[in-house]
Amino acid sequence: TTEPGHNLTTSVQQIDARHHLHPFTDTAALNRRGARVMVRGEGVYLWDSEGNKILDGMAGLWCVNLGYGRRELIDAAKTQLEELPYYNNFFQTTTAPAAVLAQEIASVTPGDLNHIFFANSGSEAVDTLMRMIRHYWTLEGQPQKTLLISRDNAYHGSTIGGTSLGGMTPMHRQGGPFLPDIEHIRQPYWYGEGDGLSEAEFGLKAAAALEERILQLGPERVAAFVGEPIQGAGGVIMPPAGYWQEIQRICRKYDILLAADEVICGFGRTGSWFGSQTLGIEPDLMSMAKGLSSGYMPISAVAVGDRVASSLIEKGGEFYHGFTYSGHPVAAAVAIANIRTMKQEKIVEYVADDIGPYFQQRLRQILAEHPLVGHIEGIGLIAGIALVKDRARRTFFAETGAAGQICRDHCFENNLIMRAVGDRMVLSPPLIISRDEVDELCQKVRTCFDLTL
Ligand code: PLP
Repeated sequence: TTEPGHNLTTSVQQIDARHHLHPFTDTAALNRRGARVMVRGEGVYLWDSEGNKILDGMAGLWCVNLGYGRRELIDAAKTQLEELPYYNNFFQTTTAPAAVLAQEIASVTPGDLNHIFFANSGSEAVDTLMRMIRHYWTLEGQPQKTLLISRDNAYHGSTIGGTSLGGMTPMHRQGGPFLPDIEHIRQPYWYGEGDGLSEAEFGLKAAAALEERILQLGPERVAAFVGEPIQGAGGVIMPPAGYWQEIQRICRKYDILLAADEVICGFGRTGSWFGSQTLGIEPDLMSMAKGLSSGYMPISAVAVGDRVASSLIEKGGEFYHGFTYSGHPVAAAVAIANIRTMKQEKIVEYVADDIGPYFQQRLRQILAEHPLVGHIEGIGLIAGIALVKDRARRTFFAETGAAGQICRDHCFENNLIMRAVGDRMVLSPPLIISRDEVDELCQKVRTCFDLTL
């Protein structure tokens, strides 16, 4: 309730503490402090129940790409809710929003990734990818090709499938056992794990780990390599130039499918529609979510290239897979409005040619010499900043995450949303951010870094 005199913050916090189990949260610690109650958003700003105006440097969870309060998206949802709030795409029916959205997605995906399967979250899209890839190889007469290879510190979601495929050690300690037939190779994290090599040398070495593993396992057993073009939740790790080209060459050499998990990189974040285009990857399949609807409605998709799609369609018969809300009409209507608005406002061009380079330049101008900052990496409107104990010697903090957590708390108290991944501070602001807002963001980050010292 918001009636005058009622303390909204306290009442929501009390109910929350009693009944709400938060994702990725230490609930006991949160309940001692009380969760911040977010009530409103406009552009790149949020307001909490205490009236604080907060700069959202993360676009929610890397998703509110068009910013908060977009009329086009709100109206699309309203109209569709009134017309047809739900119908499914199982068993011989479709709806216009699902069909048109598939066409809209195909209009922006690279290459022949023209066939679209819908789900609701990034995790479900990843699970769909995994089943589809293995089903494909069975249809192709190679049912022994079941092994999936991904990377340490990759994030592919929270379902059993996504957790198994992902490379997050803390997640692997909880709620297992996880799926067999999944292998992880080292991540291409040059700044932190570069073995003293040049960036280019290390990129080739990290990619060579794929070939070594394929040869150990036997290429005839390996179904696919799956990776985020730029690792996001792992701390925004930019692969060295040449890494992906080498990964792709190895996949082709051994006839292994290549799947890009575009859940964060998709929809303009890196200055192209998809991170694959920015990084020069030509995947056989892509998963996407988040920026597909700017986070206004839960919706995700797998874009499938001709090779896999024609096998599924021509040889597969029924694919026993799908979700009640696959291609939900309201979510699809919002996603259509989102893509069309992005096209009309030339958002991808804005990130590529204007605000992305400006953001990367300002971050470096304002932060690169800061005593806590070891390295800044990123492209477009995504960035990761390594906090270090000693920049000259590249010494990391003994207790991983200690500095990151302190910094994140300073950001929170200073009305800036910035995330800490261990001691890497990450940013992923809405794509509609202005130059003035980028300046404000970078200055606020600097203030919070000063407080962390
Ligand atoms: N894949 C990647 C690359 C992601 O970054 C995420 C979420 O951050 C997911 C999958 C899971 O998406 P969701 O949280 O919508 O299930």
